[in-house]
Amino acid sequence: MRTAVISDIHANLEALNAVLEQIVKLHVDETVCLGDIVGYNASPNECIEIVRSAKITCVLGNHDAVAAGLEEPDSFNLLARWAVLWTLVQLKDENKQFLLELPREQPVRDFFLFHGSIHDTNRYIMYRQDAIDNFRELADLPESPRLGFFGHTHVKTIVSDRFGVVSASVPQEEQILHTDTRYLVNPGSVGQPRDGDPRAAFLIYDDIDRVISFHRVEYDMQRCRDKIVNAGLPPELAERLASGR
Ligand code: ZN
Repeated sequence: MRTAVISDIHANLEALNAVLEQIVKLHVDETVCLGDIVGYNASPNECIEIVRSAKITCVLGNHDAVAAGLEEPDSFNLLARWAVLWTLVQLKDENKQFLLELPREQPVRDFFLFHGSIHDTNRYIMYRQDAIDNFRELADLPESPRLGFFGHTHVKTIVSDRFGVVSASVPQEEQILHTDTRYLVNPGSVGQPRDGDPRAAFLIYDDIDRVISFHRVEYDMQRCRDKIVNAGLPPELAERLASGR
């Protein structure tokens, strides 16, 4: 089975469409999403409607939680707060309802989906201790899955616990998974990459070959940037797309 894993779409319709077109070409069996469908960019309803109609398995992100009215944006910086409160006003009721019904984490066959950290949507996996804590939570889950997919940092990442040593490696384009090792893997962000590469990011997990491949795709960034400015969102949000930071 070949699974495409996408994350942090952040209302970037142009990037989402480009990624989904590429996924079709790569012959995947299913697509899953790690949350934050909305926030920052200007097409929240359109992006939710694509995820809904494609029946993409999805978990709730921290921006989704605020946009749905579940949480306050207390930990958000000024730009993120502006955008998420704008989104809250824009969202159609049925799309808000869709976000409200998303689970915060989801087991799928031999892997596990969550947004920030296991049992904590808002916590980043950024430092070694974060990874150690999440490997422990992964092991404590029913059936102790060996593979966890997470988003939230917008940076493609692969962390392993091979021989009990927790270490992050620079993700190669293709990564073969050892059977006796646990992994925490972030595909990077579709709609607002922060790893210096402004192209939309996603990955494909092949559970037969036990290979993860990381992918990037160009999209119509100018159109997305124009929409941000025309919507009255902060122009900084349009500028950061080009830098990939
Ligand atoms: Zn995000």
